[in-house]
Amino acid sequence: AKNIERGTVQFYQTNLPVQMEGILEIESSLRKAIEHDEFVLHYQPQIETKTGVIHGAEALIRWESPTRGLIPPNVFIPLAEETGLIIPIGEWVIEEVARTIRSLKKADIILPISINLSIRQFYQRNLVERIETILKRYDVDPSLITIEITESMAMDAATALVILQELKALGVKIAIDDFGTGYSSLNYLKQFPIDYLKIDQSFIFDILDDRDDRDITDSIILLGHRLNMSLVAEGVETKAHVELLRGMHCDILQGYYFSKPVPKDALIDFITTYEHT
Ligand code: C2E
Ligand code: CA
Ligand code: CA
Ligand code: CA
Repeated sequence: AKNIERGTVQFYQTNLPVQMEGILEIESSLRKAIEHDEFVLHYQPQIETKTGVIHGAEALIRWESPTRGLIPPNVFIPLAEETGLIIPIGEWVIEEVARTIRSLKKADIILPISINLSIRQFYQRNLVERIETILKRYDVDPSLITIEITESMAMDAATALVILQELKALGVKIAIDDFGTGYSSLNYLKQFPIDYLKIDQSFIFDILDDRDDRDITDSIILLGHRLNMSLVAEGVETKAHVELLRGMHCDILQGYYFSKPVPKDALIDFITTYEHT
């Protein structure tokens, strides 16, 4: 079909080698990034709607490349997935979160932290043992860890169920991320041991003006509560978002209204000042 349009062929011919070179280049610098410790975690606080206290934080990775600058995860995580480099990168994330929980504990702060897994990591062999080993090494209570997966990662429902049950047996919590955007089957919701449903930000952004988004969010909250899950709203940017979601009894709020994802030291500042107000 590509031959039909001459312009398209020319476009691919001139651009493909450039793109390929770019990808290979990024892949090799991604390898170096692991060796040279160029990744950092930022943390975004999550707030309990009813009490206003800090519930926990989500760890979000950033790549601080000395040559390319700050690269967001949406750009390099898919590439890390493709190349398999997500396994060592993901392992670093878990270890860094464990280190953070331990160092916060020394400052008398007990903070649950959520970790995003990507699909390759989720289905890697010995995932649960690897997590267990790291948590033991840093003396971290597994109940302080929440593992976030997306609906599409659970497409192989039978295998996903086994892994999730092992994670639950270890004592970590499970969250379904970006809920409402993947191929959900309501059937897996009742089978899987899920603690948190995170309502995707695409429903939250227009929630004040869009009746459909409001109704969908309302229904997700009702459904989640019926199934004994806690609801987390992402992308909470305004006071009006907070008020509306409070009225809908959404349990936990996360978004720029409270804080952007920030480095560990800024998170500690946030926690200490937030508790005093
Ligand atoms: P996500 O897990 O859905 O993370 C939420 C994203 O929304 C984050 O983008 C966060 O900075 C952004 N966000 C939070 N509050 C607001 C808000 O109020 N308004 C707006 N407009 N955005 C908000 P970020 O940090 O760029 O991460 C993007 C995605 O990259 C994440 O989406 C997640 O899928 C992936 N990711 C991040 N860290 C990791 C990681 O350590 N491992 C893996 N596998 N994936 C990660
Ligand atoms: Ca997430
Ligand atoms: Ca999300
Ligand atoms: Ca998202």
